[in-house]
Amino acid sequence: MSTRSDVNYLKRLTYGRQCLDEADARAVLEVLNGGWLTQGPIVDRFEAALSDQLGVRHAIVCNNGTTALHLATAALGWGPGDVVLVPAITFLAGANCSAYVGAEPYFVDIDDQSQTIDLNAAEHAIKQLTAAGRRVRGIVAVDLAGHPCDWNGLRAIADRHGLDLVDDACHSLGASYDGLKIGGCDQCEITTLSFHPVKHITTGEGGAVLTNDDAIAARVRRLRSHGTVRGTEMVDSDGPWAYDMIELGFNYRLTDLQCALGLSQLEKLPQFVDRRRAIAARYTEAFAGTVVRTPVERAGVRHAYHLYTARLPFDQLGLSRVQLFDRCREQELLLQVHYRPLYMNTYYRQQPMHHDAAQRAPVSNRYYSETVSLPMYPDLSDSDVQRVVETVLGAVRSA
Ligand SMILES: *Cc1c(COP(=O)(O)O)cnc(C)c1O
Repeated sequence: MSTRSDVNYLKRLTYGRQCLDEADARAVLEVLNGGWLTQGPIVDRFEAALSDQLGVRHAIVCNNGTTALHLATAALGWGPGDVVLVPAITFLAGANCSAYVGAEPYFVDIDDQSQTIDLNAAEHAIKQLTAAGRRVRGIVAVDLAGHPCDWNGLRAIADRHGLDLVDDACHSLGASYDGLKIGGCDQCEITTLSFHPVKHITTGEGGAVLTNDDAIAARVRRLRSHGTVRGTEMVDSDGPWAYDMIELGFNYRLTDLQCALGLSQLEKLPQFVDRRRAIAARYTEAFAGTVVRTPVERAGVRHAYHLYTARLPFDQLGLSRVQLFDRCREQELLLQVHYRPLYMNTYYRQQPMHHDAAQRAPVSNRYYSETVSLPMYPDLSDSDVQRVVETVLGAVRSA
């Protein structure tokens, strides 16, 4: 029986959601009816398809985007005593992946236009930390909302200071810069992906580590499965049953069931990204000339629009962000904010290293005070987009 709240639920617009069809369901069912559920032949096929489509030597899938980042920091050998630069505005996992291996994340301000890590702030941080006797090992940068970082600039900084670069590309599958695909690892050691339902393609939960480095790839594969080797990789095999744990690893494997969904979704990635870009163009056109500041796509960059992050000068509107959220919620429009700066989290705020993090990040603070994520996913219709625009502008006008 359908109730009023069911109807409202169907009308409800959220910032992101999966886009599934019959072909996806068939692909999963086929695996379910076959013999192999967990890591098996479909994992290999999904990995091959990812590496093919993105132009990278190795794609290693794992059970989510957070474990992909953990595998990255572990495979790079970061650990206690190391400092890793992270933009102040990203998802928790971007910092936690360094903390997991005993390294310390250090929050760096973002650039106002692209909202990705600020290169001058990064270089300044490296010099200050080095002068204070700290060892900076790497940067985990995020292509926030789907806009690629300045990867050429980051590579130059990394080369100057002997750092490793990780691209947290959980927002930017399908994006490119200078004609180079995100995921190709042209300017970074490792790229990580997430296949959470709000991301560009989904496997329910899932993730991937991408690299062109054979040694890193081998270590990621080993760490994904308890740090073990078997067969000819073993030095002292005493039989076909034997495996040897040569370092402390994890069970971060993805299943054949999930990879079947991933393969089916990956085929649709180009159309998904095209639709996201068309929706972004509609928003940007509709908000032109209003108080709403729309995201910028830098020259030479193809934005993948995982998020559509609008910015509103709430201090000048007579309307708080909480009030905007409330008014939109009344119209079944659920807004979000990406993200609360990392240094505002109690866990990090308690650590002395982060006591001055907010003062060092004025652009992040202002971005955080203004940003609102509007619905962005391929199934959003043109009339949904129109409804979002009218609801947001209506709330602003009625203030
Ligand atoms: C989603 C996301 C992750 C983590 O992915 P999960 O699959 O949810 O673990 C990491 N970084 C960023 C920027 C993300 O958006």
